[in-house]
Amino acid sequence: MSLPPDRLNRFARHIVLPEVGGAGQVALSKAHVVLVGCGGIGSPALQYLAAAGIGRLTLIDSDVVEESNLQRQTIFTPADIGKDKAGAAAEWTRRFDSSLDVRAVAERIGPDSAARFIEGADLVLDGCDNFATRLAVSDACVAAGVPLTSAALGRFQGQIANFAGHLPDQPCYRCFVGDAFDAEDCDTCAADGVLGAMAGTVGCFAAMSAIRVLLRGQAALGDPQWGRLQLFDGLAPGLRTLTIAKDPQCRGCSSPPA
Ligand SMILES: [Zn+2]
Repeated sequence: MSLPPDRLNRFARHIVLPEVGGAGQVALSKAHVVLVGCGGIGSPALQYLAAAGIGRLTLIDSDVVEESNLQRQTIFTPADIGKDKAGAAAEWTRRFDSSLDVRAVAERIGPDSAARFIEGADLVLDGCDNFATRLAVSDACVAAGVPLTSAALGRFQGQIANFAGHLPDQPCYRCFVGDAFDAEDCDTCAADGVLGAMAGTVGCFAAMSAIRVLLRGQAALGDPQWGRLQLFDGLAPGLRTLTIAKDPQCRGCSSPPA
């Protein structure tokens, strides 16, 4: 499979990169990414996933656009206030590139629905705002064998990692955070504040991590670095990398003892 002439021109700067190339761009055009959360992390991630020509995008968010979102969720404008975020994000995507297949899901994802949304995806990028959803998404990804890019933001610290907990030697997101947060909502942006450019940085880093996963086996950039957590300190600024171990007791990705 090759790209049609108009797409070759649009993605010319990717295609000339030896780390991506034509084969890599074709892989991106065939990929289906499920984006969980179209907010502070999800909206900048969406901009660069769409710009990268990810062929199919499912956008999930149950919130509506509020005026206080505009400081960091830069796909939205004052005209979007009051609209559901998933639908407004899908509208943005269609305006940006009408060739992409985009679907909006204005529902809250939970343990009962996560599997349905994730089925058939090549990757899930989770930038949502609470642990209960994150853990439900992670468990569903492990069960379905779908890689997960997880990104989180707190004040001036960002965390980004790729997980493949379905693989026997790789950790999942639950190995990293444990079970304690299952029932707890933890949206701290309203109370703690967040710098808009921090959300943009973390969202773009997450998009780049997702692209690494989607290019594996296709291009040199395709090294997913499973279980390597990138910790971005926006104040210093600086970047540290931690390796997350697989938890043999994890109820997300390890078999329960017989
Ligand atoms: Zn695990």
